[in-house]
Amino acid sequence: MSNIQKYKEFYKQSMENRDDFWQEQAKMIDWDTPFDSVLEYNNPPFAKWFHGGTLNLCQNAVDRHLADRGDQNAIVWVSTEEDKEVNITFAQLHKQVNEAAAVYKSLGVEKGDRILIYMPMIPQAVVAMLACVRIGAIHSVVFGGFAAHALASRIDDATPKVVVTADAGLRGGKTIAYQPLLDASYQQITITPPKVLLVNRGLAEGALGEGKYDWDEQMAKCAGQIVDPVMVESSHPSYILYTSGTTGTPKGVQRDTGGHAVAMRASMKHIYDLQPGETMFTGSDIGWVVGHSYIVYAPLLTGATTILYEGLPIRPDPGIWWSLIEKFKVSVMFTAPTAIRVLKKTGTDLINKYDLTSLRTLFLAGEPLDSETHRWISDALPGNVVDNYWQTETGWPILTNFAGIGLMENKFGSPTMPAYGFDVMLVDESTAEPVAANEKGSLMIKAPLPPGCMTTIWGDDKRFVETYFSRFGKEMYATFDYALRDEDGYYFIMGRDDDVINVAGHRLGTREIEEVLCKHSSVVEVAAVGVKDELKGQEVVAFVVSSDQTEAASESDLKALVSREIGAIARPKNIYMVSGLPKTRSGKVLRRAIRSMAEGEDPGDLPTIDDASVLESIIATIKKG
Ligand code: ATP
Ligand code: MG
Repeated sequence: MSNIQKYKEFYKQSMENRDDFWQEQAKMIDWDTPFDSVLEYNNPPFAKWFHGGTLNLCQNAVDRHLADRGDQNAIVWVSTEEDKEVNITFAQLHKQVNEAAAVYKSLGVEKGDRILIYMPMIPQAVVAMLACVRIGAIHSVVFGGFAAHALASRIDDATPKVVVTADAGLRGGKTIAYQPLLDASYQQITITPPKVLLVNRGLAEGALGEGKYDWDEQMAKCAGQIVDPVMVESSHPSYILYTSGTTGTPKGVQRDTGGHAVAMRASMKHIYDLQPGETMFTGSDIGWVVGHSYIVYAPLLTGATTILYEGLPIRPDPGIWWSLIEKFKVSVMFTAPTAIRVLKKTGTDLINKYDLTSLRTLFLAGEPLDSETHRWISDALPGNVVDNYWQTETGWPILTNFAGIGLMENKFGSPTMPAYGFDVMLVDESTAEPVAANEKGSLMIKAPLPPGCMTTIWGDDKRFVETYFSRFGKEMYATFDYALRDEDGYYFIMGRDDDVINVAGHRLGTREIEEVLCKHSSVVEVAAVGVKDELKGQEVVAFVVSSDQTEAASESDLKALVSREIGAIARPKNIYMVSGLPKTRSGKVLRRAIRSMAEGEDPGDLPTIDDASVLESIIATIKKG
């Protein structure tokens, strides 16, 4: 059987024999009480997977590996900021999560309480997460690096009893003190101030006072204590995670326990193909869903080693990640396309310097992977490169290629095909009718969503239904992305449906235009946006970042390229050459901000922006014309 046939058979099983399919997957997880039914779905769109079963996520991620893998590394922490490397075996991790769980209990945390984790990429952050689910508490990790306001709104929404934090994070050699940010957020919150548990790295002043406790001291007090994992219902929330906020106010995505555990473990087998005992390196942050799923839960549930990396991908030089792959014999790597584009700017020499034969597959997700970057990195690496399309809401890939089933042929620019369990539909946005091959439609998922997906918006079932299930009724989950499917069944993401550009009645996806501009050899990155035009409604404006290695393209060449490939209707009115694009800290282009600036307006308050200095340079470029 060819890989594509194998995939189709597997996918069909998940659709036609859904319960048996997931029953089988659930065997990869330890249950304390077996579930009564695979799915309870009597209140659409709320799905309860593995109803009646009880389990503990921390027990599955840590305790159950002790017998066979106690001495194997669970976490390898590499900090190029502190120039440190620390190995933590499963046995050591077990000891630490027990002590941390005891600390939480001493601070009065009980099952169902929230713990907010505002931390840099240090091992204590992972310990803090695992200890939380060990006692049935619910974590909400907030990206360490969000400023006071973003933090305050998340504290108010999650109402945690405890905030776990550190004195400081490090980024590109700079110390970012967290305490002033936390203190400022406490000035803004409206709830009773949560207690603070502070990891002191000795980097910045972290004054302990009323309600603030030192992590090391508390851990020492609880040294050697064992806290039995609290078995929770499968539908018990394991965590809340806010979406990136690329399009608006972040939504508090709530994830269950049983469905989450099964989905994570199954994805390692079928999609990522990582075996117990092997090593995975996910270059992301625990503050994002990719970090939750593929730095922490999926590798640990699998009994694999995970690399936790603090630092930039280009420091001390852009070869650092490849050096880690060689050194730790990484089998599977995961990161965002933006990181690869940064490396692409500097060429392949630093890739060729290292022995990367251990790396079977590199997975990329979070933003469109343009076909040129996909081709470039595929040529540069000995292994395969797979584009993954998913969302904070789903927790694991909606569209992907499947290393565990057998990779199908890649089509550059396509995240391949729907993952098992996802009943993906492409529909016309006004009629809800399925669209034909090669036609753009709204990407929807027929409910119920598979295990591991969000179960609701934290504290707001109504917003959950209204946000995701109001377009075409409770049967259809909206991703808010456009896609098309070609005649071979491959999917192509065409952009978000709220940033479609409407030129004289023609609806253009931002992605189509960007994809074409990326074909020019000098273009590394591009954002296309629609700006108001009196005559045509909107006009296309593009912002282009060029490579260090080639001469920049001329504006007229690039305009001609778009006319030729898409049509005169898409020809950008203006093309601005800029040094960088405004992005969220998770690497997503903030198109709304760009659009505002292109229309001569203020980009507004951007709490999630990574580097605000690019805004000024863009505004200056626009002014110059
Ligand atoms: P918010 O929903 O708060 O505006 P966000 O959508 O940026 O934020 P995430 O859940 O982090 O938050 O991002 C998911 C989105 O990222 C997808 O809906 C899609 O638009 C984009 N995306 C992710 N992976 C890919 C991919 N492989 N190709 C194209 N787009 C992708
Ligand atoms: Mg989103």
